Amino acid sequence: MKNFQEKNCPQCGAPKLKTWKELTNEQKFLVERLPLNTEFTLEERKKHLFCERCWNEIYIQESENC
Ligand SMILES: [Zn+2]
Repeated sequence: MKNFQEKNCPQCGAPKLKTWKELTNEQKFLVERLPLNTEFTLEERKKHLFCERCWNEIYIQESENC
């Protein structure tokens, strides 16, 4: 299993991306209101990673798993 949490933010280079679980309630509220990635449901977005510096939302595509 890859440790994808060690990835940097591709937008601002922040060294630590946060998972949904690591966000505070206030941050979750912010994330829910982000206009980005509206094609995802909230359940899907909870699997994404979030940059707390620029609020870039990073998602991992698991293309080759069955
Ligand atoms: Zn960032």
